[in-house]
Amino acid sequence: MTRSIALVWFRRDLRLHDNAALVSACEAAHVVPVYCFDPREYGRRAFGGPDSFEFLKTGPHRARFRLESVEALRSSLRHRGSDLVVRVGRPESVIPELAAAVGADFVTMHTWPTSEERQVESAVRRALDDIGVASRRFWGHTLTHLDDLPMSLDDLPDTYTTLRKAVEAESTVRPPSPTPDIPAVPADAPEPGTLPTLSTLDDGLSMPVDDDRSVLTFDGGENAALDRVESYVWEGDHLRRYKETRNGMLGADYSSKFSPWLNEGCLSPRYVQSEVERYEDQRVKNDSTYWLTFELRWRDFFQFQFAKHGTTFFSPGGIRERADIDWRTDDAQFERWATGETGIPFVDANMRELNATGYMSNRGRQNAASFLANNLRLDWRRGAAYFETQLVDYDPASNYGNWAYIAGVGNDARERYFDIVEQARLYDGDAAYVTHWLPELAALPPEYAHEPWTMRDDEQATYGVELGVDYPKPMVDLDASYEKFG
Ligand SMILES: Cc1cc2nc3c(=O)[nH]c(=O)nc-3n(C[C@H](O)[C@H](O)[C@H](O)COP(=O)(O)OP(=O)(O)OC[C@H]3O[C@@H](n4cnc5c(N)ncnc54)[C@H](O)[C@@H]3O)c2cc1C
Repeated sequence: MTRSIALVWFRRDLRLHDNAALVSACEAAHVVPVYCFDPREYGRRAFGGPDSFEFLKTGPHRARFRLESVEALRSSLRHRGSDLVVRVGRPESVIPELAAAVGADFVTMHTWPTSEERQVESAVRRALDDIGVASRRFWGHTLTHLDDLPMSLDDLPDTYTTLRKAVEAESTVRPPSPTPDIPAVPADAPEPGTLPTLSTLDDGLSMPVDDDRSVLTFDGGENAALDRVESYVWEGDHLRRYKETRNGMLGADYSSKFSPWLNEGCLSPRYVQSEVERYEDQRVKNDSTYWLTFELRWRDFFQFQFAKHGTTFFSPGGIRERADIDWRTDDAQFERWATGETGIPFVDANMRELNATGYMSNRGRQNAASFLANNLRLDWRRGAAYFETQLVDYDPASNYGNWAYIAGVGNDARERYFDIVEQARLYDGDAAYVTHWLPELAALPPEYAHEPWTMRDDEQATYGVELGVDYPKPMVDLDASYEKFG
């Protein structure tokens, strides 16, 4: 293949390290790296299926993060004598057109198990096939490679612990592949093109305002990802206490915050694993170092679950095909949940953090999701779609898989509801988190900050917090809403 030309189609794999599609393309004499902003991923879209509804596909936090990540990738490629061709358009048109224009012999790409990603990829491959250009596909976003699972997808266990134990006993994690030397683009390569702005992707989008209450500034791109690994694992030495701190909610370092970079592909999970192992060799090996891998295996679990079950995950009854829950639609109630005006401080604080920053802790996500799905019994897919819009780290499998799990229609036969006030007391005992996001409750002692509705009128007057004026009255009687779970 001395004179051949390859095109590498970057998707949610915006990195040079451990990138099998890039490594494969670099077997050619010339490589044309391409990124394509697909208009279907922006603006208001229908959810699809029965009871479809509209939602914003990508909100400002993730759109900005992605733009920064693409810009960073272009800069890294230019630094290495290459470039990144950027286009706005449907990949099934753009990729074959570019492949034909440069006379590509083959096109490389990564694959994902979720339906929209697969449909686009199939359309691209069919179009390439029509013009006689070969395509090479790689699986590259999980810790354990799909081909290294100790069972076939049909036999994949639907419970996490069973899968984890089998994988731990019978599979190994492949080492990350190093960044290859990248052959130059051909002399007659197409114009690189300019990067779109948020408003060209979606005229309703504008640059999110940085909020100084945010856990972290999430800068897109591979270098920012590697910096975050360096600062969390090595400089801050936080990995040694990860298991004890991971349920926190305030500050940069209670958990790794790797998720946005993992999900846009700026960071390979196998690179994270190699750093964990290096840390275990050089500093300490303990429950916490094991636990970060344990959590990355949860991420894998949902990817493999989607590979097995496909689109049934997006149906109201989920993979368990439950027909016994009457999922409600109530726009006013949904709006109160989404805007953080439910009158339940632990839910509201988390929703306001999500809206302001695009991030929410795992503890917060579990409670906010449980409140919508279990206490309100609103269609859990609307909640999940709202997270899809807002999250800077959104991934279809992790998001809809976790939501389905909590709504009782996913990978667990048990009811998964959370006692929200109990959770608030346990994980935010001094109400520091709740008052960080709800400053209107700052004057209250912690027990009232978590349950303001238990204050008498004279107490409301003493603390200067009048329910229904300064902060909403609760939209449901929480205790009564748990009764269906006996
Ligand atoms: C309702 C709900 C929706 C969620 N939606 C998403 C989503 O769209 N994208 C996403 O990456 N995570 C999602 N999660 C999982 C989890 O909340 C986030 O991965 C985590 O909070 C990210 O912060 P971190 O990187 O600091 O996590 P850490 O605690 O440092 O964990 C390290 C990594 O492990 C993975 N991980 C940890 N917990 C989970 C989990 N339960 N499921 C899957 N992967 C996990 C993530 O990749 C994470 O970056 C969701 C959880 C819930 C309950």
